[in-house]
Amino acid sequence: MNEIAQRLDRVNRRIKAAEELYNRPPGSTRLLAVSKTRTADEIREAVAAGQRAFGESYLQEALDKHRQLQDLPLEWHFIGRIQGNKTKPIAEWFDWVHSLGSLKHARRLNQQRPPGLAPLKACIQINTSGEASKGGHSPDELLELLPAYMELPRIQIAGLMTLPAPADSLEAQRKPFRQLRELRDRLRCNDLPLETLSIGMSADLEAAIAEGSTIVRIGTAIFGPRQTV
Ligand SMILES: *Cc1c(COP(=O)(O)O)cnc(C)c1O
Repeated sequence: MNEIAQRLDRVNRRIKAAEELYNRPPGSTRLLAVSKTRTADEIREAVAAGQRAFGESYLQEALDKHRQLQDLPLEWHFIGRIQGNKTKPIAEWFDWVHSLGSLKHARRLNQQRPPGLAPLKACIQINTSGEASKGGHSPDELLELLPAYMELPRIQIAGLMTLPAPADSLEAQRKPFRQLRELRDRLRCNDLPLETLSIGMSADLEAAIAEGSTIVRIGTAIFGPRQTV
């Protein structure tokens, strides 16, 4: 097994162990491999080891890799900061967006989603830490805006996402994830089950699974440390 295959296997075993430990149904947490800054060849190695869903943060880089990997039936997730003037390629080339934090962006994506494609699946990003540098709506904003998001037929609001500040202990890691889950539980209804919780990265995936994560977004633990730019 090559290194990426070994790491991927280790991550899948961590997910499985956490599902067992926290009484989650087996297979209820999906693995999104975060491939930002990685090459198309590294992605191919992960695909050869069974991975299908990939997350990207930088649009131009993502589109380049998309082109290089057209021969593969992959699922692409946009997880980076959305720029208002660059929504069209997201609407055209991605299956999911996790970082929706503006109704204006959602309206543009809704208009720009090509008719031949299924509605764009989306998680609304919530700023659970209150840090000004982090994107996303506050819980109060979401309460107010959710009906307007729900009116967009070409966007399927699948759930919520958050990107908390790093924390050392399991308990500290769980806190923002728990807040997100409780917010989701308050807002969900028959018309909008909000079944997706996009939470958990390499360092805190166990905490996220404990709090009900349905998609963990894992980069470093699969591909190794990123070069800082
Ligand atoms: C980079 C990134 C990740 C992956 O982080 P790792 O610590 O490398 O697992 C997850 N989510 C988002 C939004 C990211 O930007």
